[in-house]
Amino acid sequence: MDDQNVPNEPLPIRRLQESLINRIAAGEIIHRPASALKELLENCLDAGSTSIRVTVKDGGMKLLQIQDNGCGIRKADLPILAERFTTSKLSTFSDLSRITTYGFRGEALASISHVAHLSVVTKTKTETCAWKAYYLDGALVEGKPGQTPDPKPCAGNDGTTIIIEDLFYNTPTRLSALRSTSEEYSRILDVLTKYAVHNPKVSFVCKKAGSPSPDLSTPSSSEIPQAIRLLYGHSIAKDLLHVAFSSKKKAENEDEDMEEDSGPQDSGSWAAEAHFTNANYQSKKMIFLLFINHRLVESSRMKRALEAVYSGVLPKGASPFIYLSLQINPRDVDVNVHPTKKEVHFLNEDGITDQISDTLQRSLASQSNSRVFEYQTLLTGGIAETEQSTSKKRKGKERARDEGEEEEAGEAPKPAAAGAPKKTLSQYKVRTSLQDRTLESMFPVANPTRIDSGPSSAKGKSVDTSKSREIKESECILTSVQKLRQRAIKGKHRQLSEILEKHTFVGIVDINKCLSLIQHSTKLYLVNHGALAEELFYQLGLRQFGNFSRLKLQPPPPLRTLIEIAVEVEEATEESGLTKPQIVDRIVETIMARRDMLAEYFSFNITPTGLVESLPLLLRDYTPNLDKLPSLLMRLGPQVDWNSEMECFESFLRELAYFYVPGPLSATAVPETEEEQAQDKAERWQIQHIVFPSLRRYMAAPKALLDRDVVQIASLPDLYKVFERC
Ligand code: ADP
Ligand code: MG
Repeated sequence: MDDQNVPNEPLPIRRLQESLINRIAAGEIIHRPASALKELLENCLDAGSTSIRVTVKDGGMKLLQIQDNGCGIRKADLPILAERFTTSKLSTFSDLSRITTYGFRGEALASISHVAHLSVVTKTKTETCAWKAYYLDGALVEGKPGQTPDPKPCAGNDGTTIIIEDLFYNTPTRLSALRSTSEEYSRILDVLTKYAVHNPKVSFVCKKAGSPSPDLSTPSSSEIPQAIRLLYGHSIAKDLLHVAFSSKKKAENEDEDMEEDSGPQDSGSWAAEAHFTNANYQSKKMIFLLFINHRLVESSRMKRALEAVYSGVLPKGASPFIYLSLQINPRDVDVNVHPTKKEVHFLNEDGITDQISDTLQRSLASQSNSRVFEYQTLLTGGIAETEQSTSKKRKGKERARDEGEEEEAGEAPKPAAAGAPKKTLSQYKVRTSLQDRTLESMFPVANPTRIDSGPSSAKGKSVDTSKSREIKESECILTSVQKLRQRAIKGKHRQLSEILEKHTFVGIVDINKCLSLIQHSTKLYLVNHGALAEELFYQLGLRQFGNFSRLKLQPPPPLRTLIEIAVEVEEATEESGLTKPQIVDRIVETIMARRDMLAEYFSFNITPTGLVESLPLLLRDYTPNLDKLPSLLMRLGPQVDWNSEMECFESFLRELAYFYVPGPLSATAVPETEEEQAQDKAERWQIQHIVFPSLRRYMAAPKALLDRDVVQIASLPDLYKVFERC
């Protein structure tokens, strides 16, 4: 434009130099080594590579080299490779909206050539040798002074190696904006890690130039959960949930449109897959991998929505790991958003975000009771941290987040226990409720049993086993039972019952010795959960007298065989003056004679031919160890006083309770086989999630337990005194 002489003398407008324009444009796409790497990775993946090797020097500022084994670049295309808007991925502009490959505007290599020294070695399958080319400002240049700019033949494998040197050598401000080389390197690792999770079939290797061992290395042909385990660690991988769902059009219809779908063909349709941690996992910082149409992107809206989902599940300050891959019709992605801008927008963003949050929420809710209570978390949460120090830390963390928009790469996932904020305690209590989860869904029950669907009196009524409802006291007109119930109430020790009612479960100390830790207010108690459970089950037996649910045995085992098994191993049989078969006969007779009574009062059903069909179920979702069944049946013979009503009921219920006490047959057993380990795990789960919560609800604790089975081992004020002295 020409100069104009107007009074205010505006400064003349001049056209910027072409090269400067390009450099500025390039800077918008390539912010830092990690963003260059992201573009190049996407190119490698577009080229169908199954192996991608990255070499880095000085955080990628000196050298960033990416070698792949993809389709390669035809020699004829090399002259225009680094020109702006040259691409093999769309032919007409209308394609722009349909394109499904990664970067799609032919700008990455061009941009890089404006802000770095770019060279390419590439070989297609049909070519006999590889070709090497050098680029500057979008065009081929000579590699060494005196040579021609034409690509030179050289040795090389099928595939492409892109070499970027001296990034931002000509844009000093950009260069100085970068942080340390180690920071840039960790961002590179972060990008690679995320792509490696998303592409588990592709092998990724990353190392520093000159270093003998890679800092990241993944196998080809893995699956996403394995990749997460390898790259983010076991502590995340073990607590992962998975959902995959898709939707046709319209987000209004929230539930109906969760259906299997081949993919997002029509506008408005989409598909999503997520792997995300359950309530057991807590990180200080959210790890969020969001891929939309296979591009790593950011969506603050989606992130906030998912944070909100977890805020109802995790203690304050704790964050999850979420991998989310979303496929939407490319037409629905906002094409006006620069393709390299990480923050994306798409059609019906709110609706899709809502549905994804809902699905994750539901999945988490159905898992919420499976949370494993790490006892360290509770202890450090309750004792080591004061509210003040916690909030200070939280603020510091927020500041750190503001400074760097991206997550730190390679950050080791923190174990749940590390510095859980104090709030944890009350949060934990809320979630100790067992409302939503059944035992069966937690683990495969190894025993050949099936839990009957309801109390024997509620004929055919289907009962939702996922709800642990209040166990009501059955109506019973028998004075003997009423007396026993009164006795239990009278024996209640106020203080001990309060401890149990309001306790927080801390952890199992020794499963064979039946020792656990619980916390009440500021005190820590070592309890014999076996003894507590025995009393609990006795009282649950009293409570449900005449109205038990059934624990069905399928197929029903023969009473006699079971008793034979138990008598066989019993040592003290001689003193009775009877032979073992005689003892078996006696016991079988005794029990068979009371069949009707046992069925009526205890839902303990034995067929006329002597098959044990069902046992009284004392506690929904709790399966007793059936290895102990022979011993129960044998003891019913001599141990139960069958002649007087009250004594009979009491001793029967005591034996039943003893049978129900959690624990293996022999107290020294260490689980060895896989099945034993599963059993052990299931048992621990039952103790924590079924027995202790029931103690809280149903137990009128007698004083006798206080003397022997509940011992205070620490009190917080005392511990503080100790620490103060240190
Ligand atoms: P775009 O990816 O948007 O097409 P780029 O500048 O990233 O633009 O790449 C330009 C072209 O170079 C691509 O379309 C592709 O044909 C080719 N290309 C780049 N990297 C590779 C690679 N690693 N393997 C094969 N072809 C590649
Ligand atoms: Mg590209």
